[in-house]
Amino acid sequence: MAKSAGPPVIHWFRRDLRITDNTALNAACASGAEVIPAYVASDWQGQHRWTGPIRQEFLCGCLRSLDGNLRTVGGRLIVRQGRADDELGRLIRETGATALYFNRDPDPFGKGMEDRLRRVCEDLGVAAHGFKDHFLHESSEVRTGGGGPFRVYTPFGRVWRALPKVLPGPVAANLATPAEVGSLELPGLATWGQFSSGADLPEPGERAARERLRRAIEGPLRAYSESRDTPHGQTTSRLGQDLRFGLLSIREVHARSLAAREGAETKGVRDSFDKFIGELGWREFYASVLAEWPEVLDLEFNPQWRGLPWGEADERFDRWARGETGFPIVDAGMRELLATGFMHNRVRMIVAMFLTKDLQVDWRHGESWFMRHLVDGEIGSNNGGWQWSAGTGADAAPYFRIQNPWTQTKRYDPDGTYIKRWVPELQKVPGPVLATEPSPGMRIAPGYPLPMVRHAEERDRILGIFAAHKGRVG
Ligand SMILES: Cc1cc2nc3c(=O)[nH]c(=O)nc-3n(C[C@H](O)[C@H](O)[C@H](O)COP(=O)(O)OP(=O)(O)OC[C@H]3O[C@@H](n4cnc5c(N)ncnc54)[C@H](O)[C@@H]3O)c2cc1C
Repeated sequence: MAKSAGPPVIHWFRRDLRITDNTALNAACASGAEVIPAYVASDWQGQHRWTGPIRQEFLCGCLRSLDGNLRTVGGRLIVRQGRADDELGRLIRETGATALYFNRDPDPFGKGMEDRLRRVCEDLGVAAHGFKDHFLHESSEVRTGGGGPFRVYTPFGRVWRALPKVLPGPVAANLATPAEVGSLELPGLATWGQFSSGADLPEPGERAARERLRRAIEGPLRAYSESRDTPHGQTTSRLGQDLRFGLLSIREVHARSLAAREGAETKGVRDSFDKFIGELGWREFYASVLAEWPEVLDLEFNPQWRGLPWGEADERFDRWARGETGFPIVDAGMRELLATGFMHNRVRMIVAMFLTKDLQVDWRHGESWFMRHLVDGEIGSNNGGWQWSAGTGADAAPYFRIQNPWTQTKRYDPDGTYIKRWVPELQKVPGPVLATEPSPGMRIAPGYPLPMVRHAEERDRILGIFAAHKGRVG
């Protein structure tokens, strides 16, 4: 179908960097107008509490890939840099666009920008169309019997699963982006793209993400129930960054997983896909917690634990961040993070509990470190994971349930395969030694640090801190 020669419309790309099953982009195409696909890069200067080079590098790759994909359907990515409300307002005035299409972003920063943009559109007399896209269900759909939001996952998950799911939509078609609209050169963005994080990142872009989904469904997800807690090898989907940047739609991931569940030839495979779908539910649970209680970004979710005397990010924090604690499993995880932007979920829990319980450092410092280094860094899930580990969150591990890093190693990395992959100093150390707290003053291997604390002592210390706080606040 030819596009009308009338004024164009704009699709604002955010965390939906794909042309397949993109709700707002499809709606913009269906309007019959020419579509200007736009991305507004921030003025990021390399320093930020919530982001870092790893995610920026991955994002740059995704934008390049998106531009290539858009060109196959008659479009091209228009890139601007600055504040989204200023830049999109300017683009609307430049092009005479009559409508702005976008997928809603439920985090408080995304929502704040949408509110400002709606006001810009109103002033310019332009329609603003926001769509649900990042989640199967937004918080307003998953409610308790009394109509409120859930504070714990299990009942949330039950209601979330039972709600009817939307099926994936088509690939966008016939954008017919007008030739004269100016764009920044993609790799030449003023403060971006000139650096490399040095990390070994997954391949960016929609095609690579879809290939990861295919491989995960045919491979590790079939045994997900039994092996998902094993940190070495690929035992999980590795789709975190693809969902974070919307390289795949959540509807596609869900529908393909459900189809694999229906076609499963054994109970084990069926249970595995069930479990996996449940994890997609956790992502939506934490997004819903953040949408309902945005204060969790500053405060403990459970008011009982507000005001705990957490420690600052001192030199103990630095040792944790560099992976030099003398606790092999913790150091392996922290080094994996720096080298790849990824860390296995089980190890995320171990290192987060270690920072908060063994070192008593404020979970907010760990949360921010993760946001600066994770390629799948997602504000809601990251905050949820940190508050869970600190014992302060929704559905958190109760404060007295403290994981012992040595026992965790024995259970999840008994041969030390994962540890040896990331901590070369420990290559020759037998697995059982890596899972046993050494006697005071004993080194596990030459050149490897002594454990910086004794786990049992720190466990008693943090239990005392929690108990004293509980006694004070009643
Ligand atoms: C301290 C801590 C911080 C975390 N920070 C993040 C983060 O910034 N971004 C992030 O996406 N996940 C985070 N998680 C959750 C989880 O560790 C990752 O989603 C997972 O490791 C990503 O790898 P995967 O795609 O192979 O996971 P899979 O096990 O294959 O799961 C598939 C998808 O389900 C979702 N998911 C799985 N587990 C969780 C969970 N516990 N909470 C929320 N969503 C989940 C993710 O979107 C994930 O990609 C964190 C967990 C902890 C304990």
